[in-house]
Amino acid sequence: MGKKSRKPPKQAADAPPPPPPAREVGAADDDTSLWHGARAGGCGRGLVATAALRRGAELFTEYPFFVVDRRSHRSRWAAYVQLRASAKRGDGDAAAALAAFDELRYDVATASKEATVEAAGAMVDGALEQLRSLLGADAFAARREAEVKTVVDVLRKFEGNQFQFEHGGPGVGAACALYRRVARANHSCAPSLVLAPARLPQRPGERVAGDGGVAVRTCCDVAAGEPLTISYGAKELVGWDVAKRRAYLEKHNGFFCRCVRCELEGAS
Ligand SMILES: [Zn+2]
Repeated sequence: MGKKSRKPPKQAADAPPPPPPAREVGAADDDTSLWHGARAGGCGRGLVATAALRRGAELFTEYPFFVVDRRSHRSRWAAYVQLRASAKRGDGDAAAALAAFDELRYDVATASKEATVEAAGAMVDGALEQLRSLLGADAFAARREAEVKTVVDVLRKFEGNQFQFEHGGPGVGAACALYRRVARANHSCAPSLVLAPARLPQRPGERVAGDGGVAVRTCCDVAAGEPLTISYGAKELVGWDVAKRRAYLEKHNGFFCRCVRCELEGAS
């Protein structure tokens, strides 16, 4: 199942502060007693409950390992290049974030496939301009193809896993955040998890440490062994009929939804 441009969580400056999270887990802490990452049916990797969970159970609070302040392919690529350079210089936090980034998976989103390749091509052409006359045509074409592939891979990892949140107060803009754990939750049109902002921006106009944190809790009872899922779509999506949901997810998230609910409702 695809993952792309997920909308929650929005951190609005005037929203009431969420309740404090039950606990916070570090980025290196992979599994807990309540859930673990596993292969989930036809959806590839996913999160699965390892014990029965009551509705409203607070599972974990997670902070992004990587935040990009502006929403454009160019700024995402630039942020990635900077992260890679910092990691190479021996910055431990950057190295950990880079490792988490490399772990991310994505399914090719049909809706944005061409746009991503086009954006990558334009960036690579700009960067390689001076090589064009130095290399022969074939060598240049091979080099260009390899570079475009690298950029496309990075952009699709963003597209397939990023969450948007408002930061720094009204009108300042949105940031794209990447989470290591939340990224593993598959989509369902009857999700079992909800995400809520874990902390609000404190200094208007700036992003501060802790922005983008999400508290993850169950929104229904979940039996042991059942997948833990989130909705990748708009907030209203769960209220739509199956045709509208599938059309939306195909257009905005690049996949035809075969979640349990869609398969049931689509067959009737
Ligand atoms: Zn569905």
